[in-house]
Amino acid sequence: MPRQIPLKEKLTSENDRLAAQIREQLQQHEIFALNFVSSPGSGKTSLLEKTIAALGNSLEIGLIAGDVQTENDAERLTRAGGRMVRPIVTGGACHLDAKMITRVLSEFNLETLDLLFIENVGNLVCPSSFDLGEDMKVVLISTTEGDDKPLKYPGMFRRSSVMVVNKIDLLGTSDFDLERVKKHARQINADLDILELSCRTGDGLDTWLQWLQRRVRKNRPIVA
Ligand code: MG
Ligand code: ZN
Repeated sequence: MPRQIPLKEKLTSENDRLAAQIREQLQQHEIFALNFVSSPGSGKTSLLEKTIAALGNSLEIGLIAGDVQTENDAERLTRAGGRMVRPIVTGGACHLDAKMITRVLSEFNLETLDLLFIENVGNLVCPSSFDLGEDMKVVLISTTEGDDKPLKYPGMFRRSSVMVVNKIDLLGTSDFDLERVKKHARQINADLDILELSCRTGDGLDTWLQWLQRRVRKNRPIVA
């Protein structure tokens, strides 16, 4: 009798197969792709809005906005100047998977795209188990949340390459201890890049934009 493959394992390997295809496609087209994960309300959409506003004229940015019920985030990103925005409404599912990405990716012109940003569903648990073919996961945490997030959701911090601490303008108005968060995050993932910023005041955004620009792969001709 053939070995029974547990359902979860089957789903994960099917997802990994599709994610590998996406990754190959993106790499062939020299597109740098990020998968943004966080709790609801940490500021993923705000950070993307600021990023589009700053870089949208010089770089082609594709955006995929995942949401459980609405297309609100996708609409916000379009209003912020995003020219290529595609919503994914999961209809209740608490994470995006590679199949959903495959379906919308065909609507983008990969020849011209420099960056692809995927805003995952706000949830620090299962999005960590679904590879979407991205280069890196970016985990956001804001100073209005509990500062024990890295300890509570270690999987997410282990699988992310970057941690963005948002809303630093509100530091000191709560018990959120920035040094403790950084210490715990680094205990879980010693290689984590940590950036601190405020989407509201713009503090620290330059560092984020420079970090991003260093990773753009296409050699764009300089238009005089
Ligand atoms: Mg959002
Ligand atoms: Zn989920």
